[in-house]
Amino acid sequence: MKYKAHTVGTVVLTAGIIHLNNKIGLEIKPLYLIVGAVFGGLLPDIDHPRSLLGSAIQPVSTIIKETIGHRTLTHSILFTVIISLFASIFNINIGIGIGLGMLSHIILDLLTPETNGVAFLYPFYKKKIKLLLIVLQKLPPQLNIKV
Ligand SMILES: [Zn+2]
Repeated sequence: MKYKAHTVGTVVLTAGIIHLNNKIGLEIKPLYLIVGAVFGGLLPDIDHPRSLLGSAIQPVSTIIKETIGHRTLTHSILFTVIISLFASIFNINIGIGIGLGMLSHIILDLLTPETNGVAFLYPFYKKKIKLLLIVLQKLPPQLNIKV
């Protein structure tokens, strides 16, 4: 999935969270949340040298891709929690936004049919999982959808 789709998905998710926040009255600052979310929505693909962020640090992204692979560590829940907590030390709203953006990215990659899956439980479970495949396999056979 391309960065534009991840950015749109992240902004939609974050707008929903902001709307929900307005209903329950938490102290979330929407601008910081969106800035963090947009960055977080792009961050997982730092493991690919041709991605938007990966191309900016191509030697590092190439090493990551060739050693542990694309859609592994940087697409994991563990990495999301670590990065989100680390950013929260400096600004809680940006930290939460980064976490939301990264989760949105992982979910969208899981639902993308063109990918070979996401190892979102890396390093505890290194096999890549395709959520769309699981969903399609659960549909009734009368729908005749090929996976
Ligand atoms: Zn990705």
